[in-house]
Formats: sequence, C-alpha cells, structure tokens
Amino acid sequence: MTLLTVPIAAKSLKEAASQIKAAAKAGAEMLELRADYLEDLSTSLVEKLMLQAKSANLPIIVTPRDSKQGGANEYPDKLRIDVFVAAIKAGADFIDFEFENFSGQNQEAITKTLSENSKSRLILSAHNFETKFDDIKKLYSQIKEAYSDAIPKLVYTANHINDCFDAFDLLHEIKDDLITFCMGQAGLISRIIAKKLNSFVTFASIDDKTATASGQLTIENFKNLYRYDSISSDTKLYGIIGSPVAHSLSPLIHNACFADIGVNKLYLPLLIEGGKDEFNTFMQNVLERDWLGFKGFSVTIPHKRNAIDLARDNKGLVEPLTEKIGAANTLIIDEPKVSVYNTDYAGALDAVISTLGIAKSDFADMSIAVMGAGGVARAIVAGLHDAKAKVTIYNRTVEKGEKLAAEFGCSFLPLDDLLDVDAQLFINCTSIGMHPNVDASPLPKSCLHKDMAVFDTVYNPPNTLLLKQAGQIGAKTVNGLEMFINQALAQFKLFTGKNPDLKLMQKILYDRLF
Ligand code: NAP
Repeated sequence: MTLLTVPIAAKSLKEAASQIKAAAKAGAEMLELRADYLEDLSTSLVEKLMLQAKSANLPIIVTPRDSKQGGANEYPDKLRIDVFVAAIKAGADFIDFEFENFSGQNQEAITKTLSENSKSRLILSAHNFETKFDDIKKLYSQIKEAYSDAIPKLVYTANHINDCFDAFDLLHEIKDDLITFCMGQAGLISRIIAKKLNSFVTFASIDDKTATASGQLTIENFKNLYRYDSISSDTKLYGIIGSPVAHSLSPLIHNACFADIGVNKLYLPLLIEGGKDEFNTFMQNVLERDWLGFKGFSVTIPHKRNAIDLARDNKGLVEPLTEKIGAANTLIIDEPKVSVYNTDYAGALDAVISTLGIAKSDFADMSIAVMGAGGVARAIVAGLHDAKAKVTIYNRTVEKGEKLAAEFGCSFLPLDDLLDVDAQLFINCTSIGMHPNVDASPLPKSCLHKDMAVFDTVYNPPNTLLLKQAGQIGAKTVNGLEMFINQALAQFKLFTGKNPDLKLMQKILYDRLF
C-alpha cells in the first residue's frame, strides 16, 4: 500500500487550515505537517496544528525538518526535539526525523517518547539534494541498524532519468516499509512508479505554489493524468521517450484511452537527456528489469534513430519503411525482442487522404512541395515517394535538403524558390508558426492560391496562420492535429492491440488546443 501524502507547508494555522481542507478534498490519503514552515514555531502551535489536521481523519506525519536537510526555517535542535515529543504525545501517526541527527540526546528523547506512545512510528530520513547516494543499500541497512522499527526514507536528486533505477532496485528488493524516490524533473517518474513498487508513501502537492520539493506533482496530476488510483504492482508501463517531453500531449491522450478501454496500463513522460549512450543505458536498465513492466514507448527527438539501432542490435523487427525513413517513433518490447515502427508517415498521408477526400492512388504524379528536411519531412517524403508523388523539397540548409531529395529521388530547391511555388499540395514540415510564435507563417500569403491545398504539420495551434490565410482564399487545408491523432491511434493499437475511441482522443485534444 502506498499512501498519497500531501505536505501542509503553511506559515500560520489559518493558512494550514485551508491547505488541510484542500488536500482532503483533493483526495489526499495522508497529511505531512511540515512544522518547519510555521512562523514562530512552538510546541503549543504544533499541538493546535495537530488538532486542526485530525479533523481531516487522515493519518498524519509531523516533520519539523532541519534547515540543513531542506527545512524552511532555521529552528534550534532543542526546539525541534520538543516539537517531535509534543507531536507524538498529540497522536501523530508518524514523525519524520533526519537520520544524520539521530544520535545522542536527540535519539534518547525520541526513542523514549516513542516507547511510551506506541501509536507513533518513526521515519528516519536521508536527503541528497545534489546527486544520488553513493550506496543506497548500505544507507538503508545503517538506518535499520540504528532503529529497527524505523521506516527508512531515502530521497535524492536524479540528474538523469537513469539515476532513478537505484531507488527502483531498492524498492524491488526490500519488502519492508520503505520510502524512496527521486527529486528533480529527471526523477518525476519515480514519484509515480513508487506506487507500483509499493513505496510506503509518495508525495503530492495541492498546487504548484505549495510544492515542497523539486519535481513534486500536484495531486490533480497524480489522480487524473497518471491514474493514481488504478496503479498496482501489475500495471504495465508505457511512455514517451525524448528531450524535451514536458510539453507532450501524449500522456494525456494515451492514459485517458487506456482508462476508457479498461486496461491496467500507465503512460509516462520519459525525459532522456543526452544522446545514444544515455538512450541505450535507459533501455538496458528497462530490459534488465522485466519486473518494472515497461512494454512500449513513443519515441521523439532526439532518439528516433537510436531506437532503430537498438532494435537492430537486439535482432528485433525494424519495419521496412521505418528502416528507409531512418527514424522510428514507436518501440515495442516483446521480450526478449525490441521492435520499432514509424506511425508518422501513415498518419500524415491518412490525414491528407481523409481531409481532402482523395484515395492513396491520387498521390501518384501529384506535384507536392515539402518545406523542411527534418524528421517529420523524412517520414512524409518516404510515404509520398512510396505513393509515387512528384515531390520537391525546399529547405533552409541546402545540403540537408539535397541529401533527403537524393535519397528518395525527389527534386530540391532552395527556400527562396518557394516564392514561385506551383504545386497541388504544399506541406509545412518546419516549426514555423508553432506556439508561441503563432504570428509567423512559412509561406507569404501572396504565394498561396485556391487550387493549392495546404497541409501544416504544426498542431499547436491547430489553426496556424498559414492555414488561416489559405482558408481565407478558398484553398483546402489539412491541420497537423489530424496527423497527430492518426499517429497516436496507430501507436495505441501497437500498445494494446485495440483501437482507441477516436472521438475521445479528439475531444481531449480539441479541449486542450482550441
Ligand atoms: P526537425 O527534425 O528539427 O526539423 C525541422 C525542420 O524545420 C528543418 O528542416 C529545419 O531546417 C526547418 N526549420 C526550422 N526552423 C526554420 C526556420 N526558421 N526557417 C526555415 N526552416 C526552418 O523537426 P521535426 O521533427 O521534423 O518537426 C518539425 C515540425 O513538425 C515540428 O515543429 C512540429 O510542429 C511538427 N510535428 C508534427 C507532428 C504531428 O503529428 N502533427 C509530429 C511531430 C512534429 P534546417 O534543416 O535548415 O535546420
């Protein structure tokens, strides 16, 4: 059992009262009274705070944290010990004391009061705000040796997602009560996976303003976005691998669609900074630990090529067109094999086909101008080449555009030549016009004409300036959201073997983006 615990980090009793109410209403399963946040801390103030908190009928941790271990105020040790003693006597279910300070008079006072009040349990915590612990298993043993009934709490900053695996291994190995997770953006997944691996608690904030540690998620995100209540030891894990990933809408749609079809699966943002080495280390960490239950990934910049190399090294399946494109956006773990796919090109072509009401065969000999030569352009050009379209690539960096054109037997022209563009379909595969630069367009309005259909792969916003201007002169338009939905539909099918509810996916994205 993992208790979703909300820290109450208030300066006054009045502020605490409103935080306690909000936490209980949002679904907190335990409260952590961070007494170190109180102004003019005293034992009587903590006794009053305890009375307030008890009204929520939730278990309570009391933590007057030492400022050297992240406490909000510098209170003397003597006062903090008095507060611990008062909290135990007032019926705190747990008190959280720093392992570093657990010796001499401190240890004596705490253990004596605990022995007289059997209801309370001691959490002995260690924090590393810089990096991971040198030897987390040794630290765990040292805490248990110091006080065998303690719940060890080992919290450290993950500087890379790969740092999280120490915490996962400890949770997997130790079957006793234990709290361990990682701080920082790179540690975010450890706060969620904590429940799957049976950490005694995981912490959530009421909102972004009241977060007490870096990377702490809001209780709303835990419950609604990451389906906290449905996570169990059997939950299978999925996620988007890339850097950056914080902006991605994939967790939102995949988690909602997993819930909709009733499967025990969870989709996470997996920030993998660095290059191929860091990607390979992450994948090795995942493949070595089948008990983590990672089954599939969406893959984005900069790891689309790395995913293909991994599948090849692993002697897994590389779908032929994915090989030709040189970029995979989906990776499936089918032990012991890794298979990779690209759902972008079909997603893009299907968006054009359905929106313009044409057949795939209509691409044959269609003159198409593609602006850009990056990952999305590659996928689309490969798909169009397969469909025998007459493609001209326009790109800012000439060598890159020429190389792509040569690979797929297309023409190349420099960007300036776009002023004379004469094509049946224009496709923007650059980021021009994407949020927040919504007043930019890749093509001057004067170059548009009503017989040239326009497809913008940018999906945030869905109705870009390019599409608005094309629509104004009566040209047919295709927005990037259709492609995004199509590629996500195909990924979902690879993840679950089932089709998601298209209308649900559309509604979630339209509500968020329009
Ligand atoms: P990428 O690999 O970084 O390629 C970006 C391309 O845009 C390059 O060819 C680059 O030219 C060009 N470019 C960027 N800024 C430019 C500027 N100011 N002027 C001229 N050219 C510029 O990115 P990607 O993965 O292909 O993604 C491109 C866009 O596709 C994204 O921004 C996103 O909006 C969209 N997208 C849509 C979906 C969907 O499902 N709808 C999915 C993924 C991406 P150089 O070669 O000269 O650098």
